[in-house]
Amino acid sequence: MVNRIRFANLPTRIERLNRLSKELGRNIYIKRDDETGMEISGNKIRKLEFSVGEALENNCDYLITCGGIQSNHARATAAVAAKLGLGSYLVLKGDENEEAEGNLFLDKLLGAKIKFVTKGEYKYNRKEIMEDIRKSLEVEGHKAYIIPEGASNGMGSLGYVNAMEEILEQEKQIDIKFDAIVVTVGSGGTYAGLYYGNRVNNNPATIYGFNICDTKEHFQQIVLKLLDEIAIYTGKGIDVNEDELHIIDGYPGLGYALNRPEEIEFINYIAKLEGIILDPVYTGKAMYGLVEEIKKGSFDKHENILFMHTGGIFGWNREQRGLLK
Ligand SMILES: *Cc1c(COP(=O)(O)O)cnc(C)c1O
Repeated sequence: MVNRIRFANLPTRIERLNRLSKELGRNIYIKRDDETGMEISGNKIRKLEFSVGEALENNCDYLITCGGIQSNHARATAAVAAKLGLGSYLVLKGDENEEAEGNLFLDKLLGAKIKFVTKGEYKYNRKEIMEDIRKSLEVEGHKAYIIPEGASNGMGSLGYVNAMEEILEQEKQIDIKFDAIVVTVGSGGTYAGLYYGNRVNNNPATIYGFNICDTKEHFQQIVLKLLDEIAIYTGKGIDVNEDELHIIDGYPGLGYALNRPEEIEFINYIAKLEGIILDPVYTGKAMYGLVEEIKKGSFDKHENILFMHTGGIFGWNREQRGLLK
């Protein structure tokens, strides 16, 4: 049973990046999933429409989730919770004494309760930590719903199965066929949803993911698992081999949420060229990767390329800002 609550501004626009297209000799388009909302914005909203739908279906009055200290997903969850009159509890990887800027500041404004954990605790124990919070809220008389990192489970990924259908509809309206759709991979749900939607609709596009942490192999396994989970809700499995999952490695740079000067320079270049702000953690690295790969010739067989702008504008931290020359 799938219960969807609508709060994203959909459909999001598709725009042609005229000057970048000219520079690369290719038609580059961008889908503005950064404009799904303001407080409730970015790609996580499409997923939360389904996760939160399930939470309400189960009469929950609290949302628990986790992420990095500048998690866009955690901020979006806090905003959704406030909007619906629910409580929110965020498990964030970081230090309590860190300056409350960007998403962390918004989390606080939105009234989220926050538990700060170390990198190790986050990596190995976040599920147990969220479960402990759920139990302690239960003692206080609350019923909490746990949303996994990035809302990347079968339920959340349904948001991007729908997004794929939205793209197919828009292709008809603007009379264009995208032969490559490019997305950032952070926890895998966005890629998995698009991949699934593309396949079940027999669409010939290739779905490319640029991982911004971990490795290609790590995410191929995660996506395979998510594709199975999606099938539980849709009732329709797809047969996929891991090497059909086109994840392009090589662009995490210094690692999650850490930046090299050339990435910030690239974000600056796109901002000046197109008036579009990418984020340093996700879309900045992925689009940097895309442009590098186009220059190397890896996308030579593709004429019309759609890049998914998945949001992240609030995530800039002091260090990343400091790299702007
Ligand atoms: C979470 C996030 C992503 C990655 O999406 P996943 O579904 O987690 O792979 C990409 N861009 C932004 C801005 C995000 O916040």
